[in-house]
Amino acid sequence: MAPSEHAMLSASSAYRWMKCTAAPRYEALFEDTTSSYAEAGTLAHAICELKLLKKFTTSVKPKEFKDRLKELQSNELYDPEMDKTSDQYIEHLTELAMTYPAPPHVNAEVRVDLSAYVPEGFGTCDCIMIGGDTLTIVDYKHGKGVPVSAHENPQMRLYALGALQKYRPIYGDKIKQIRMCIEQPRVRSELETEEITVEELLAWGEKLKPIAQEAFSGENSIYIPGDHCQFCRGKARCKARAEVNISLRHWQELDRNTLSLEQIGAILKGATDLAAWAKDLEDFALSQLLDGYDVPGWKAVEGRSNRAFSDQDAAFAAITAAGYDEALLYERKPITLSAVEKLLGKKDFAATVGQYVIKPPGKPTLVPDSDKRPAFRPAAEGFAPLD
Ligand code: SF4
Repeated sequence: MAPSEHAMLSASSAYRWMKCTAAPRYEALFEDTTSSYAEAGTLAHAICELKLLKKFTTSVKPKEFKDRLKELQSNELYDPEMDKTSDQYIEHLTELAMTYPAPPHVNAEVRVDLSAYVPEGFGTCDCIMIGGDTLTIVDYKHGKGVPVSAHENPQMRLYALGALQKYRPIYGDKIKQIRMCIEQPRVRSELETEEITVEELLAWGEKLKPIAQEAFSGENSIYIPGDHCQFCRGKARCKARAEVNISLRHWQELDRNTLSLEQIGAILKGATDLAAWAKDLEDFALSQLLDGYDVPGWKAVEGRSNRAFSDQDAAFAAITAAGYDEALLYERKPITLSAVEKLLGKKDFAATVGQYVIKPPGKPTLVPDSDKRPAFRPAAEGFAPLD
């Protein structure tokens, strides 16, 4: 069967359907909408692809490169930041290529078949690099809202399985190592990488098969709410998620006057989920009201807005014509450290002002223990915990 352009079990949603196997069939009930963020991401990907082809292949001649880049830059969603982020991507790809004993084979936007593991599954790898005994895949993520880790990332592992299947007939058993990298330039200046052996990857793929089958068929699939609901299309209307949040059954029974730290931890987790769920309900209710539906007990109103000049140049010209000093209308502020780094480029930045850069410790922040960052425990070991 030819894969449809929208696989029911997409690799990018694997994190979700691996935990909630009912999600794919449920999500199919809701419209798949796109956003300007997603479209900007597509444009940034196209710029990355073009630069990759120029750097690593002979498929794009200089004149064609110039014309295509100009065309992409004329898109209304184009932002000059995309040139910087795509340059960082190419810089990292170059560094990866240099880790190979000889120049590797490099290609962009490689379509891979995932159907051996996921029914009707397919995907597109932003970059595949092969040489020596290592297959590398790199995924470019333009979003900056949620940092994406490469560690045990099912999307990356699925792409790697697809890439392995595609290139094994050519490279045979020479490929022993799999390197999966995430480039998220608006979040990190370095690649996020996970490296595993081919055996480990294949074993993971075998474990995935029955889960994917259950999620695809819908038979015996179960709704399991959790953090993975965040990007589910049905998150505002899902009964299972509502039940968990309403019943708060995962909260502990309060059996004494003072809450224990254990109880506070559990309640905080429930409250965080509840707040996220309430926000999703709020967004959904507002969208329904704006679409003309009634949501009993609620209405949409115009929010606060700030006054602004319709034509700032004309307004300032009128102020100076009225006798005010133009200097009073502007304030001189230093640009941020990140903006200076962008201006100078990483190398010049390090050479020119690297010695003045400090990184003060961040303000302690409470996060769930699933967060990848190491725990910050300034208190001396040995103090008895409060209970
Ligand atoms: S909202 Fe959560 S529990 Fe409900 S279908 Fe989506 S992922 Fe599953």
